[in-house]
Amino acid sequence: MSNVPVAVVTGSNKGIGFAIVRALCKQFPGDVYLTARDPGRGQKAVAKLQEEGLCALFHQLDIDDLQSIRALRDFLKEKYGGLNVLVNNVGIAFKVHDTTPFAVQAEVTLKTNFFGTRNVCTELLPLVKPYGKVVNVSSMVSSSALGGCSRELQQKFRSNTITEDELVELMTKFVEDTKKSVHEKEGWPNTAYGVSKIGVTVLSRIQARMLNEKRKGDHILLNACCPGWVRTDMAGPQATKSPDEGAETPVYLALLPSDADGPHGQFLSNKTVRTW
Ligand code: NAP
Repeated sequence: MSNVPVAVVTGSNKGIGFAIVRALCKQFPGDVYLTARDPGRGQKAVAKLQEEGLCALFHQLDIDDLQSIRALRDFLKEKYGGLNVLVNNVGIAFKVHDTTPFAVQAEVTLKTNFFGTRNVCTELLPLVKPYGKVVNVSSMVSSSALGGCSRELQQKFRSNTITEDELVELMTKFVEDTKKSVHEKEGWPNTAYGVSKIGVTVLSRIQARMLNEKRKGDHILLNACCPGWVRTDMAGPQATKSPDEGAETPVYLALLPSDADGPHGQFLSNKTVRTW
């Protein structure tokens, strides 16, 4: 078993994830795994970094596929006895003018952004080693979507006692409510991406609390963040930040020094803790 520290970035064959891997290759003292659902796209991305003189390793990972997540888990357990840095970067968004019915957009978006990310956490968080870092890439849209929720929902999502099961129940209810076309009446905002990212931010707050309760002595720091508005296939060419600039906050959180006792359980943008 290797004692080399190891970092894993989900959805990193392009966009912000790719830029996070690029930065980690330069700054992280260990093995850096670029992961992709499609091995061809993943290997191509690794080769692109190689041309820049950077050495990333590759492992397949489709966060919609539990078997794929478990294969990565078993690989990390066997080869490294765990992992040191996990960046949950995968995210999808329908384009504004997409005509796919809203209920379908809700189901598909929540499946990857919330349920897929949660499945990765369920399988990989127990493997995170002492002084490890976990970064969940959310969005400022989670804050604006929170503001668009009913007062009752806002209270639940800001609660310091909400459980993971209760959050899963709420995210499931959103999808069901969209199918019955009652989501607005039930206090939800009209954004599937926004609700999925509320899920990611609140999940991060819950997971950080669980780490405090169950693994206090392990000094693991877990946070959610927004990369900013970044020129990628998701956000388009008008966005203000380059992918490398978008990677800055996630990389800052992934490389917090081992004597840092925070941030932990926070939501950050531009390396600054934001009020939730
Ligand atoms: P992007 O360019 O569309 O890249 C998304 C990455 O996720 C791609 O590598 C994609 O792989 C991968 N992916 C999608 N579904 C996957 C799955 N089921 N399993 C594994 N990989 C999967 O998006 P981005 O702009 O870099 O976004 C990265 C993160 O930042 C997302 O969480 C996004 O919500 C967040 N964010 C972005 C912005 C922005 O302005 N861009 C703003 C706020 C937050 P394929 O190539 O196979 O599709």
